[in-house]
Amino acid sequence: MQKGNIGVTTENIFPVIKKFLYSDHEIFLREIVSNAVDATQKLRTLASKGELKEEAGDLTVHVSINKDAGTLTVSDRGIGMTEEEIDKYINQIAFSGANDFLDKYKKDANAIIGHFGLGFYSAFMVSKKVEIVTKSWQPDAKAVKWSCDGSPEFSIEDADKQDRGTDIIMYIDDDSKDFLEENKISDLLKKYCHFLPIAVAFGKKKEWKDGKQVETEEDNIINDTTPIWTKKPSELKDEDYKKFYRDLYPMSDEPLFWIHLNVDYPFNLTGVLYFPKVKSNFDLQKNKIQLYCNQVFVTDSVEGIVPDFLTLLHGVIDSPDIPLNVSRSYLQSDSNVKKISTYISKKVADRLQQIFKTDRKDFEEKWDDIKIFIHYGMLSEEDFYDKANKFALLKDTEGKAYTYEEYQTLIKDNQTDKDGNLVYLYAQNKDKQYSYIDSAQAKGYNVLLLNGELDTAMVNMLERKFEKSRFASVDSDVIDRLIVKEDEKKEELAESKKDILKSLFQTQMPKMEKMEFNVDAQAMGESAAPVVITQSEYMRRMKEMSRIQQGMGFYGEMPDMLNVVLNTDHKLVKDVLTEGENATAEALKPILGEIAGLTARRDAINQQNKDKKWDEIPQESKDDLSNTEKQITEQQEKKTAIIADYAKDNKIVHQLIDLALLQNGLLTGEALNKFVRRSIELI
Ligand code: ADP
Repeated sequence: MQKGNIGVTTENIFPVIKKFLYSDHEIFLREIVSNAVDATQKLRTLASKGELKEEAGDLTVHVSINKDAGTLTVSDRGIGMTEEEIDKYINQIAFSGANDFLDKYKKDANAIIGHFGLGFYSAFMVSKKVEIVTKSWQPDAKAVKWSCDGSPEFSIEDADKQDRGTDIIMYIDDDSKDFLEENKISDLLKKYCHFLPIAVAFGKKKEWKDGKQVETEEDNIINDTTPIWTKKPSELKDEDYKKFYRDLYPMSDEPLFWIHLNVDYPFNLTGVLYFPKVKSNFDLQKNKIQLYCNQVFVTDSVEGIVPDFLTLLHGVIDSPDIPLNVSRSYLQSDSNVKKISTYISKKVADRLQQIFKTDRKDFEEKWDDIKIFIHYGMLSEEDFYDKANKFALLKDTEGKAYTYEEYQTLIKDNQTDKDGNLVYLYAQNKDKQYSYIDSAQAKGYNVLLLNGELDTAMVNMLERKFEKSRFASVDSDVIDRLIVKEDEKKEELAESKKDILKSLFQTQMPKMEKMEFNVDAQAMGESAAPVVITQSEYMRRMKEMSRIQQGMGFYGEMPDMLNVVLNTDHKLVKDVLTEGENATAEALKPILGEIAGLTARRDAINQQNKDKKWDEIPQESKDDLSNTEKQITEQQEKKTAIIADYAKDNKIVHQLIDLALLQNGLLTGEALNKFVRRSIELI
């Protein structure tokens, strides 16, 4: 028996390993099992070259638990190691690796934790003692046993082992006893070893017999050695992709599309990405893509490796060219990783374009489900936008879908305003905005339905991208002003009449929290509605953006400002005005006389001082002016009070206001009740 000291300068490496890798203890299993797989693959290579003198035989790697002995063992029938090799690979190399580990740790702990580079010694994270019993494939090799209890001392002695290969026997620490639980190991094998290229067995297959689970003779193989991403797309059917998806995400609905990635130059990358069917945007989850390195699971956090918008996809990526033992920030600046990211993004765009071209119907049907991904991509990546604007769709309120180009052609003739701007009309809710959509369609306009989470952001972007174009919500103005065709002269009401009309309604608008109404009067034609409520496009968008963007909370706090537009061409509105004027004429007469006198006086003072600077105006004159203005205000208030007093009992005014509110879903509770009662009375 030979004893030796492990050539390490650090007093004791193992406590360090344990402490700093605390959160990721479980990866030891991946390290040990993938070493076994590596050794087995090397043996296969030797056998295929005819260098192996014996039969390769069954090459399954076995993982087993012995609760009595407190051991977890990983056994392979790979190339094994001679005593010299143990000395070289375990005693020397691995420990220089551990030194590297310490060096690296000083710089960036995250860089090492959870990634490769620790290898065999990670077994000490969970073991108080580790034994290697191994016999090399070489003819006449002697079996040896290496043993180390976590101190920098190891022993090596002859062993009694007939079979070629290696057993790694881990004596599990008292504080890591859960690694002796069958369920725990089974879960870890599923997580880290699910797609290793050599069969891995854990116990025996179980069977239901007489209401009990009993073990069979058959090995329980926990992995799929040839997952679909290792196969050629031409060998696979749709069902194979769907089945693989079900295996990965048993709880998810069937995927919408998938993309098979397969490159070997200038970097090596394989994988399958799926567009998931999301039931709501709350379902969207990052970190559903698994990253593998030669079929060994590495991580399910792929940020920095795939473009941000694609982290919402599902699936697997396998690449030996992604550096694993580096930090995320380094990763993002790595040129290979950048190329990979660009490649994936391009591949996704090409595939979507292809589906669009070959099966537009299918693409249109799935559009509502995939648009969130496409919009996210277009918003975040210029290159993706340039490709996607050929197949991204716009859907109108009738459900018809158009490409950007098709839609432009459709609306060009009828929806260009007098300044040559193309106006895209849109609604966000087909039912709530029904009357606005209806009046737009009556004009022969087409209305888009933009109700997606990212549509407001898209609208802002498309306005920048499209030339001479503007998007307007159907209810952002009265129909004639949405797309102004020419400066037509309409017969407008006299200012004084308009004033009274506006007051009749403004004084009767309900008080609502976070809601302000601004009444205006306009000639909109006899057949248009008597009262229309609109909301400025600018305010709406700012409010929308404040919901999804940080730092815009200010807009969210602002009250909704709604315009209430009275149609001066409508008979009901005309009647209200005539009756209102008549009923208040007598009371208003002296006040209007006063106002006329005061206004004339104010204008005279202003006229007098019009060429003077502020400090050249005599104080007297200034006082006179402010006094006059105060009196005007007082008289105007009186006027408003008289009109309000009359209007408060005018059923038509209230009925018209309520109808407009009702059409916008703003009439609820007591107000709605009053409206119903008044309606019955009026019938
Ligand atoms: P790495 O696998 O990254 O090289 P490890 O510390 O995991 O580092 O292993 C060091 C070396 O020990 C391996 O390169 C291999 O030569 C040898 N080794 C480890 N496990 C086995 C095994 N099961 N069979 C044969 N050789 C092994």
